[in-house]
Amino acid sequence: MSGKRNMITVKNLDFSYNQRKVLDNISFNVEKEDFISILGPNGSGKSTLVNLISKVLIGYEGEIEVGGRDIKELNPKDIAKMVAVVPQYTNPGFSFTVAEMVMMGRHPYISRFGTEEKEDFDVVRGAMEKTKILPFANRKFTELSGGEKQRVVMAQALAQDSSILLLDEPTSHLDINFQIEFMNLFLSLNRKEKKTIIAIFHDINLALQNSKRIMLLKEGRIFNLGSGEDIISRESIKSVFGSDVFVGRNPVTKKIYVSPVFNPGVDLGISSQKANKYLRVHIIGGGGAASPVMNLLHSRGYTVSCGVINTLDTDLDTAQMLKIPYVTEAPFSPISFVSQNKNIEFIKSSDVIILPAVEFGFGNFSNLVSVKEAISSGKKVIVIDEKNIRERDHTGGKAEKLYRRIIRDGAIVVKSENQVLRRL
Ligand code: ADP
Ligand code: MG
Repeated sequence: MSGKRNMITVKNLDFSYNQRKVLDNISFNVEKEDFISILGPNGSGKSTLVNLISKVLIGYEGEIEVGGRDIKELNPKDIAKMVAVVPQYTNPGFSFTVAEMVMMGRHPYISRFGTEEKEDFDVVRGAMEKTKILPFANRKFTELSGGEKQRVVMAQALAQDSSILLLDEPTSHLDINFQIEFMNLFLSLNRKEKKTIIAIFHDINLALQNSKRIMLLKEGRIFNLGSGEDIISRESIKSVFGSDVFVGRNPVTKKIYVSPVFNPGVDLGISSQKANKYLRVHIIGGGGAASPVMNLLHSRGYTVSCGVINTLDTDLDTAQMLKIPYVTEAPFSPISFVSQNKNIEFIKSSDVIILPAVEFGFGNFSNLVSVKEAISSGKKVIVIDEKNIRERDHTGGKAEKLYRRIIRDGAIVVKSENQVLRRL
């Protein structure tokens, strides 16, 4: 043991919703300055665990101590001074401005009939600067995009000025630029400001790159807790998530990363269809959305290429694994003109362009622009509209507008990659 102070102690914790057990005998300690990421499939109990520690949920069996004190003895203000939460879902139920929402983070410090003091305004301002939300301080929270809301809720948690941060999928709605900014923010809060962090990430690689320890949660039990190096393996991911992955090592950061492995042998019941090997298909990549269709078309013998994808993207791993030509961009960087032009070259020499259900932020918006140019120049475009564009648009409507334009201009719309085969 390093001898650091214990910030959180959880012992033999059980919790049930309506007699259905969702957390089963959970025990672990978190020391000061630790950064634990909780990973597990949907429904494994991650949010429940975080909500119990912050006393958002009550009615458990076992022990939870924060800062050396049983949380049952702590009133909501005491807890709020020690623990700030960024919940998975936020619905204020009333239309507050952004600045008002962030000021709510100060409530543990303001007495019942007291008013905010200079210090409160200073802290709020600092929190808004760190999350880059000052430009929309006076807008209504309810009118913001998902990513903007997430930044406001993060600012509110920072305004709480607690030594522990509990983050429940804090970057799930952010575009790639803010995702990296937030990861840097978490690292600086942890390493410089000595905050203790427990975070739930939907992305194993984000967790691996940033946290000191990983907790694998499976069906309400701790499957394993330790460093990523020690506990993330092909076998552990298979056991916890049921999926086949490849565990590699990033040549730049030397850290391990996980990338999905697909099975090209899957019979989709359309195997009688003959592929035209000379048909060139270019696929727009991003966030792993292109991997299934890349894999499928490659396995059927089509001449496939992919772009623009960021390094560290699972789509890049897939392209490399399948030896498919691709256009790449530095990790977490917006697409440069050079890369965009290379991508357009690929598009020009292809017969069909495929647009999978990629998430669009300002960083990869130009991929959509390239598709728009493709359709304007008469190329055949197939859109895999698997997920509502509104939920995938992190540009405040810009991407949605262009996407709809692409469809209006004659793109073929299908619902899954399997349907692509019939339309080639
Ligand atoms: P995770 O965050 O890992 O996806 P949750 O902690 O949200 O999982 O949920 C764990 C389990 O508890 C799930 O099976 C979920 O359906 C159930 N659950 C979550 N919230 C409630 C609730 N308010 N009432 C009943 N069951 C719930
Ligand atoms: Mg959850």
